[in-house]
Amino acid sequence: MRMFDFPRAPSDPAADALRAELREFLAAERANGGYTPQADCWVSAADPEFSRKMGARGWLGMTWPREYGGRERPVAHRFVVTEETLAAGAPVAAHWVADRQTGSHILRYGTEQQKRDILPKIAAGECYTAIGMSEPQAGSDLAAIRTAARRTSDGWVLSGRKIWSTGAHLAHYMIVLARTSPAEGRNRQVGLSQFLVDLSLPGIDISGIRDLGGTPHFNETLFEDVKLPADALLGEEGNGWAQCMGELTLERSGPERFLTSLSVLEKAMPVLAAHADDRRGGEIGSILANLRVLRRMSLGIAEMLERGESPNTAAAVVKEMGNRFENDVIARLRTMLSGIPRSEWPDGLGTLLRDAVLHLPSNTLRGGTTEILRGIIAREMGMR
Ligand SMILES: Cc1cc2nc3c(=O)[nH]c(=O)nc-3n(C[C@H](O)[C@H](O)[C@H](O)COP(=O)(O)OP(=O)(O)OC[C@H]3O[C@@H](n4cnc5c(N)ncnc54)[C@H](O)[C@@H]3O)c2cc1C
Repeated sequence: MRMFDFPRAPSDPAADALRAELREFLAAERANGGYTPQADCWVSAADPEFSRKMGARGWLGMTWPREYGGRERPVAHRFVVTEETLAAGAPVAAHWVADRQTGSHILRYGTEQQKRDILPKIAAGECYTAIGMSEPQAGSDLAAIRTAARRTSDGWVLSGRKIWSTGAHLAHYMIVLARTSPAEGRNRQVGLSQFLVDLSLPGIDISGIRDLGGTPHFNETLFEDVKLPADALLGEEGNGWAQCMGELTLERSGPERFLTSLSVLEKAMPVLAAHADDRRGGEIGSILANLRVLRRMSLGIAEMLERGESPNTAAAVVKEMGNRFENDVIARLRTMLSGIPRSEWPDGLGTLLRDAVLHLPSNTLRGGTTEILRGIIAREMGMR
């Protein structure tokens, strides 16, 4: 049976200095009214001005080459930025997808022109992107997508419908997975390609979908005979499935898979401390122990990415365990807070907790459902 190894990253004093710098920046932003912490901030708290401030400080696209607006810093430094902004509940949703995965994907598969045009804008916090994989009848079974692109004399014509695309209403580009040639019998993963689609093109209609809390942070996008230039094809024609799997590694392994509830926990700590008992102490200890393990695993993936590896299944392990953890933190918090009068709760705790509860169902769906992740992990371990 194959087991998983999460390598330890070497200690790095520059990362500690960066962490201190971030904490100072985030505390100052909170103090001057720049933002109010939000649960699940990487999906629902978008503020382009905040994104631009992060870009100006060199905290976006920070692992990319300097010639494309990057800072050539290690993956572990990007980890510090994501971890600190998530723990602080900062409004990072506008740039999140572009910084996390689209930029690196363009760096790997884009044309020289696309890299020069788009990457510096992402790094400046001025260009946002969305993921166009899921469709109304194709979520877990992604190879069932019907969106199709047809080659023309000077480019492509794209038609179809994507759904649940986080942040598409703010995005400038979407990476769309589309069928470019028929499946080969039962092998539906062939004949798929990725396109970098400029969302300002004619024939594109984006409409918001409200989540349980009423926020329209994800969208349905209709493509009606959209004319794409030839270089909108991202990577190789027919290689879309493999490219998507690489993108999902970047999407699944980061601290956003286990830190979404941390701002709620932090807010609750003073009142829990004031009502400390053995039960609450035990719960907090257990949460922190689990958090430490997940963090170590996620850092291990950052290290593997730094080495140029593609830890797809290890990323699925982090997401599966991280999603269980973030839901468990909220369940435990509700139990720990029961019996403590609301009048004693810190300002904002009720709102944070309510929002976190309303977002809970998303955690085990977005980026691949728990059942699908378990299937991937079991296959890799030789159990199916
Ligand atoms: C908040 C949020 C943000 C999202 N953002 C994006 C985005 O930006 N871009 C994008 O493309 N998509 C996005 N998605 C879509 C997400 O990737 C899909 O919801 C997910 O892949 C599941 O697909 P589905 O909703 O069609 O459910 P289905 O695939 O229909 O699954 C329904 C249930 O059946 C189970 N199931 C399905 N197949 C199997 C199987 N073979 N074995 C066992 N169980 C199975 C699933 O685990 C699930 O519990 C987002 C979703 C959410 C909730």
